[in-house]
Amino acid sequence: MEFEGQDISTLSRRELRPVRRELQMVFQDPYASLNPRKRVGEILSEPLRIHKRGNRDEVKRRVRELLDLVGLSPEHINRYPHEFSGGQRQRIGVARALALHPKLVIADEPVSALDVSIRAQVINLLDDLQDELHLTYIFIAHDLGVVRHVSDRIAVMYLGKIVEVSPAEELYQRPVHPYTEALLSAVPIPDPDLSDRRIQIVLEGDVPSPIVPPSGCRFHPRCRCATKICGQQEPPLAEYGGGHMAACHHPLNLGIPAASALAPGGPGRRVATRRRQGRGSGRGTAVSSPPRTSARHRAGRGWRAGSSRARRTRRTARGPTRAAPARRPTAAGTRAGW
Ligand code: SF4
Repeated sequence: MEFEGQDISTLSRRELRPVRRELQMVFQDPYASLNPRKRVGEILSEPLRIHKRGNRDEVKRRVRELLDLVGLSPEHINRYPHEFSGGQRQRIGVARALALHPKLVIADEPVSALDVSIRAQVINLLDDLQDELHLTYIFIAHDLGVVRHVSDRIAVMYLGKIVEVSPAEELYQRPVHPYTEALLSAVPIPDPDLSDRRIQIVLEGDVPSPIVPPSGCRFHPRCRCATKICGQQEPPLAEYGGGHMAACHHPLNLGIPAASALAPGGPGRRVATRRRQGRGSGRGTAVSSPPRTSARHRAGRGWRAGSSRARRTRRTARGPTRAAPARRPTAAGTRAGW
């Protein structure tokens, strides 16, 4: 495992410490990832104290900056995690991840535990922060709609192995790996007419154990395209142009313009019509998206309105969503200096 050209899998605990400043994590469950016994100020100051970043006043100032950065008010500094909504807790998790000015943030299903109404807020917050702080994200998610919205490049994993890597739009328009094609066929389409015409691909059988994976291609027991070689030889990741790579002995949609590969009646559709109709299965999926680097990719995708600054101004003006009742700082909080 390499980070900035350095193999970090063999580093000692002491050698890893400076690397950890550059790599931070946003966890999936905002209800479990914040210490319920600590106030927000303590939670956000902890990484600064561990890595000896500034004196007491500088740490306090940085904590207030972080709260402002994620759209929370400095008055929240003395509250406990249970006094916040799920979306606000995830904002605190994001603020903690940003405390040390990391270069790479690994977001592990950061919105899957949140209400649908809150998800867009957190996604937009991550978008804004990326623009402002020039961050790189590895965004792990099962929700292919969210993955499409946030990603520049997408890697599709099956049983712990990457089976396809591609620029985001290319992957959605022209999947090469049969597993990716099956995943995309399970994405809901908001148009009922189009949805009725679409044929979904059903993956049969159970997900095998990743501890004892099948021989050859790990997907072969469930793949509609499998042949003898698939059970014997593991396919390597091969390049199909434009940074699109897939590990498959019988790749799909090659030589087909991206726009027509998955269009109704297109070549991909003809392949799909040979399959049984029914509901798709997303089990065993892990889709992650390494960095996106340009705000232009996000323009016009329908989740956002207005500029980053304008949105944050509005958020700050109307206060946090679903704010818990304000509490006066307790004596303990005063003693703690927050
Ligand atoms: S290598 Fe064979 S089994 Fe594996 S995805 Fe490709 S066609 Fe299917």
